[in-house]
Amino acid sequence: MSACSAPAPSAALAPSGMRDIPVLRERGQREVFCGLTGIMWLHRKIQDAFFLIVGSRTCAHLMQSAAGVMIFAEPRFATAIIEERDLAGMADANEELDRVAAQVLARRPDIKTLFLVGSCPSEVIKMDLSRAAARLDAAHANVRVLAYSGSGIETTFTEGEDACLEALVPELPQDTSGETSLLVVGALADVVEDQFTRLFQALGIGPVRFLPARTSSDLPPVGPNTRYLLAQPFLGRTGAALDDRGAQRIAAPFPLGARGTEAWLRAAAEVWAIDDARFETVVAAPRARAERALAGHRAAFTGRSVFFFPDSQLEIPLARFLYEELGAQLIEVGTPYLHRGHLDRELARLPAGVQLSEGQHVDSQLDRCRAARPDLTVCGLGLANPLEAEGLSTKWAIELVFTPIHGFEQAGDLAELFTRPLRRRDLLRVG
Ligand code: SF4
Repeated sequence: MSACSAPAPSAALAPSGMRDIPVLRERGQREVFCGLTGIMWLHRKIQDAFFLIVGSRTCAHLMQSAAGVMIFAEPRFATAIIEERDLAGMADANEELDRVAAQVLARRPDIKTLFLVGSCPSEVIKMDLSRAAARLDAAHANVRVLAYSGSGIETTFTEGEDACLEALVPELPQDTSGETSLLVVGALADVVEDQFTRLFQALGIGPVRFLPARTSSDLPPVGPNTRYLLAQPFLGRTGAALDDRGAQRIAAPFPLGARGTEAWLRAAAEVWAIDDARFETVVAAPRARAERALAGHRAAFTGRSVFFFPDSQLEIPLARFLYEELGAQLIEVGTPYLHRGHLDRELARLPAGVQLSEGQHVDSQLDRCRAARPDLTVCGLGLANPLEAEGLSTKWAIELVFTPIHGFEQAGDLAELFTRPLRRRDLLRVG
């Protein structure tokens, strides 16, 4: 876990650039996981990929403790430990890395892509993992070797997925079909991917492909006829890499909740010129199921206040969902980074007067949270226990990343993640 210290604390109010929502920019100590954590869901999603962290025992411990509660099959990640001898420049870390990579690939012939994942220690000793990846790629036929950074110096939490997908984009084959295709970008649970595939098919939108795909040998083609829809809000660099390949982003909110999912699908339907009647026919039943599932949670949430600490970059779409679909009051919505372009459709749906903050100065933010006494605080693991001890109800932000929450069929589960801590607090009060 990283608790990285950035330069001296400062805060400034900046115009948001969209509507008149002010953004409080903070720089100071932050409490957030590093980008290595993304391996937890990426190794489950991409079934023929292996993630070799080039890191320290601390990195290995982080992954083991995160994995301890998540793993249900043989893991496809490991850590090549950088020892003190490497750090002191007394050993050739590259030789050691080549040996470990060869060992992994010999043991696991099912692996088709090997990701070398950089960490704080590999950055400190300035290991050039891109060059190492090129060397290993040439040495191992039938295996693609790529590198990206998951270090706590360069990345927070979900930025690890962004860096991984960005590394994959140059590998995507050029689409020469001349056919307009849809690319859904961002790791989704297979069950959610299947639901979206069925909805797009019924709408007449296609061909539809996903990045990442379930196998790394099945890379989607990309080119100027590709229209892409982001499924996750933290893919700024991946989006830029796709833009460089000529693909065009479809502006949309994110598919969270009934309204978010409907608007996300509608944005694609407009590009494919699907008429309203057909859209309604396809969407009406799953949207009604989502609305029924949400109705049961609305009473628990209406008028309740929520405070988001910055963590996963999902905060703004989640805040929109809680406000728009469950009637919550938003006190502060913190995000590690605010990508205005990708979030414009979400920001437009937030209430006037909501406080947005970007970056973190954790002590100042804790002071604001304590003063506001929100009914629910969404934050990282490190802050949750102290805040609970002070009588505040908390939701671990990490659960929102590990749980399938996208799409109509998951709307009720998403609401449940937020209402459960409120109900628990109500029961404790009654008790
Ligand atoms: S990459 Fe850095 S922050 Fe992440 S576990 Fe390793 S040492 Fe800690």
